[in-house]
Amino acid sequence: MVLRFNSCPHCNARIMFRVSLEDIDTSKYPAPVYILHDDDSCGKISTFFLDSLLRVSYKEVEKKPGAIKTIKTIK
Ligand SMILES: [Zn+2]
Repeated sequence: MVLRFNSCPHCNARIMFRVSLEDIDTSKYPAPVYILHDDDSCGKISTFFLDSLLRVSYKEVEKKPGAIKTIKTIK
């Protein structure tokens, strides 16, 4: 499990979340995972695409198909 720092594509606030290989479908990279910005000011879900080292390749505001889990950001 790794800790990742990024920003929410909805509100641009700094976020952090923990992710592991069990959270993604490893049959194809980059692999999507849903990220819930767990904050009262936002509360929205976006899609982060991760490479095989769980680094963020890119992200989308929309909920894209293919993710198997939703991860809440750490407060
Ligand atoms: Zn947000």
